[in-house]
Order: sequence, then C-alpha cells, then structure tokens
Amino acid sequence: MLKKTDPAIIKGYLEDSSNLTGGSADGVYLPESEAEIAEALAECAANKTPLTVSAGQTGTTGGCIPFGGWVLSTQKLNKILNIDAEQKFAVVQPGVTLDELEKAVSKEGLLYPPDPTEKTATLGGNVATNASGGRCYRFGSTRNWIRRLKIALPDGTSYNLKRGLMTANNKDEFVLPQLSFSRPRYLAPGTKNSAGYFSAPRMGLVDLFIGSEGTLGIVTEIEVALVPALKQTFDLVAFFPTEEAAVNFVFESKSKKDATINFYEFFDENTLQMLSPSYPLLPTPCKAAIYIEQEITAGNEKAYLDSWAQLLEKHGASLENSWLGMNAKQKEDLTKFRHAIPEHINEMFKQAHQVKLATDIAVPEDKFREMLKFYNDELRRACRQAGMTNDELMYIKFGHIGDNHLHVNLVAKKPESLDKAKSLALSFIRKAVSLGGTVSAEHGIGKIKRDYLKEMYGATGIAEMVRIKKEFDPAFILGRGNISPAK
Ligand SMILES: Cc1cc2nc3c(=O)[nH]c(=O)nc-3n(C[C@H](O)[C@H](O)[C@H](O)COP(=O)(O)OP(=O)(O)OC[C@H]3O[C@@H](n4cnc5c(N)ncnc54)[C@H](O)[C@@H]3O)c2cc1C
Repeated sequence: MLKKTDPAIIKGYLEDSSNLTGGSADGVYLPESEAEIAEALAECAANKTPLTVSAGQTGTTGGCIPFGGWVLSTQKLNKILNIDAEQKFAVVQPGVTLDELEKAVSKEGLLYPPDPTEKTATLGGNVATNASGGRCYRFGSTRNWIRRLKIALPDGTSYNLKRGLMTANNKDEFVLPQLSFSRPRYLAPGTKNSAGYFSAPRMGLVDLFIGSEGTLGIVTEIEVALVPALKQTFDLVAFFPTEEAAVNFVFESKSKKDATINFYEFFDENTLQMLSPSYPLLPTPCKAAIYIEQEITAGNEKAYLDSWAQLLEKHGASLENSWLGMNAKQKEDLTKFRHAIPEHINEMFKQAHQVKLATDIAVPEDKFREMLKFYNDELRRACRQAGMTNDELMYIKFGHIGDNHLHVNLVAKKPESLDKAKSLALSFIRKAVSLGGTVSAEHGIGKIKRDYLKEMYGATGIAEMVRIKKEFDPAFILGRGNISPAK
C-alpha cells in the first residue's frame, strides 16, 4: 500500500475549511482497496496508533484533521462500482466526489438528491457527517438516501449493513455475532440533525454509522438510492424590504405544502453586502433575500410565475425585481451566487486567522421565528454594548430556512472581538437547545463543537457516546478528538 511520511506531503492533510490549526501526523496511508484499508487498521490497532480518515477535506469542523498518529486518505478509493438505472441505485467507493457521482448518474437520467453545496466533498465524508443541502427541504439529508454501507473496524471485522436489516430489538439492543449493546439512551431531536451518534427506537445499525464522523469504523463502500432526474426546474432569488417580510413569504409558501419545491434559502442583509462587490447588480436597499428552486413541467411556467408574483407582491417584493433562473445559464449563475456565500465567508475567516465560528442550528418549525428574533436581539445588544461595528464583528446569517436551519457566522475582524463572538455563539446554542433544536444540523461536531454537543446531551449523553465508541473501537484509535474528547 502507498504510504507517505514526507512532512511536505503530510502538511496537505492538516487542514479543512474550519481553519483549525495545530494538527500533526506521522504519515498517510493511501489505500486502493478494502484489503488495504484492513491492513492500515490492523497496523494501527496493533500499535494503538490513532487513525484519522481524511476525504475531500471540505469539512467545517476539523473532523479530518489529525492530532497525532496516521491519516487514512480515501483519495484513491474513487471508483463508481455500479449504477443500476433500472432499480435506481448506485454503489461507490467512499472517495468518489459528489460531482463525479452526480455527473455519472445524470448520464442515466437519474439524480442523487442530497445536495450539500460543496461538490468536491466525497460520499464517504457526506455519510460520516450526514451532510445535507438546500434540497434537504424536499428530499431529506444523506441518511435518507443510504441503502447499504460497508464498514471496516479496527479488530479486522467488517459489516455489510443493509437498511432494514440488523435493527435493534424491542429492548433497543443490537445483538450481533461478536457484540451486543443497547442503543444510546437519548433520542436524537426531530429536526434535521448531525450532532453526535444517532439514536431512535428500533433503529438500524446502519444509522449509527451515518454521522459518526470516522469514530466508529471506516466506511468502505456506499450504496445510495437515486430518483429520476428532475424534469425541469425554475429558480428565483427574491429581494425583500425586511427580514420579517422574507420569513413571512417563506412560511406562507410552505403552508401550501407544495411537493414540487426543492428548497428555500435565506440570505440576510450582511450576506448581500458581502457579495455586492462581486454582484454589483444586487438590488438596494434590501434587507433579505430568498432563493427557491421548484420542479416544473413544460407548459405550466406561466401559472407558476403568476402565483409567485402574487405572493411576492403580498410580502413587499416583486417578480420584476427578482433574479430568475429559467435557462441553464441563468441557473448556473444562481448556483454560483449561492456557492459564493460559504466561499466568501471561509475566506473572511482565513483572512482573520480565526477558527471558523459558525452555528449550524436547526430548531422545530414553530420555534424558528423565536430563534431568529433571539439572534437579532442578541447580536444588536452585544454590538451596541461593546460599541462594535461591522468592521470589528461581522455577522452573517444565511442558510436553509426551509428546514428552519440558519448558519450564523461570527467573524471577529479584531482580536478583541473574539471573546464576544464566542459568547454570542454559546448563547445561541443554549437558546436552540432550550427550544428543542440541534447544535449541528448538517456539518457535524468534529473537534471544534464538542462543547456545544455537551450543551445538547449533557455529560450523560456524552458518556453514552463513549460507551458506544468502546464497543467498536476499544483502543480509541479512530477519529480521535471527534465528537467525544480525545482522552
Ligand atoms: C464551500 C462549502 C460549502 C459547504 N456546504 C455544505 C452544505 O451545504 N451542507 C453540508 O452538509 N456541508 C457543507 N459543507 C461542509 C462539507 O462539504 C461536508 O461536511 C462534507 O460532508 C465533508 O466531506 P469531505 O469528503 O470533504 O470530508 P472531510 O472533510 O475530509 O471529512 C469529514 C469527516 O468525515 C470523516 N470521513 C470521511 N470519509 C470517511 C470514511 N470513508 N469513513 C469514515 N469517516 C470518514 C472524516 O474523518 C471527518 O470526520 C460545505 C463546505 C464548503 C467548503
């Protein structure tokens, strides 16, 4: 198996998009088969060497960054093994990127619906973080699309976990040939969720591994469900005079329960201001924007446009003032506009030499307005009290309003603002937990959000996660420092 110990090569594996620094590793395994993954696991298990899986390195929480030991990169495990157009599923190695899978299945007239924005992320990374994107509103997160996973464990065993098989019994215990244990004694929240190990009554073992962030086993093969490609889509970015108007627009539209809407995305005033140098045609003044995508059929465009026009007018916006995606070029431009948001923000964190400080909170639908008000009240109060302007603490709220899930990014442009930013983030976390929400809806916990996970599940919940980890990885070599403390 290919192994690298050259420090210059190792350096390339010490980063992701969290800006977390301080990582180190003695070497990198680059396996090309399941047998080579097993070989790497056996070596590390024998020497109790920590082993961190690294994939596309697009994660936002430092999950793939090693703090000692070896890295196992899935870069060379990048084959699409099968696309079954008839039964609508695909089987891939974990290092296949979203882009590669989407292109391959689209040639068969099919779609892999989860749409986490970053296309260079891998399927293995998506499974490990239970990633989701805008289209989660209609199609759900990665979890919903996993039919089967193959998992390799440090003791040399491997599991082939088919959804619907290997489920917990009526006492919520898994009874497997080598081990038996009960599922975590907490329940995952009903919101979209990627915080810690999944737990639900009579759950399947496959669901324990989805979202486990490389801490329980290595995902070596993935079978995903596919759907027929969307017939035709219509995109719209509408601009609103107030945030409240934008939110009311979304909630009224959602109340119609139209199953053809793929996503609703929200951008606040600061998001738009951040993008305005690159997008000088952004309408001003404008306090918020909403981006929707809807599946339409040829011939009914006019009916949809009329109905959107009416709803927009009612909430202080207009179709004339909106950006429309009616053809491939316009849609591509809007997708780029959407993708530019996290890219710009990640660049701002980089410039500020700050570890990414961004919430990933989702709350129950009936609590969304309360959460948004809390963000705004606290941000205004904190900035007023500290006499801080946007030049000192920049806050950007954007994200998946369809799923009651926004990211609040807190960029401390001056070092003195960092403590304030951190305490604001913690107050958001506590509020979300009090409302029955999650501290991570899609990015996972990694190394930088463990304190938030504790707020959500308490010390007992974390102890439950450690109990589960010990079942699969008794020497604590895998993904050390992700989800539960390194020691
Ligand atoms: C611009 C931008 C936009 C983004 N937008 C979204 C978004 O809309 N939605 C979203 O959910 N995320 C988003 N992300 C975050 C990121 O793309 C996801 O977290 C993604 O799932 C990470 O995949 P990766 O291949 O890059 O994994 P990495 O970052 O390399 O690793 C992530 C975690 O998965 C583990 N892992 C990876 N492969 C395996 C495996 N085979 N077995 C076991 N563990 C494994 C790693 O150990 C690590 O803990 C965005 C990131 C960027 C930079």
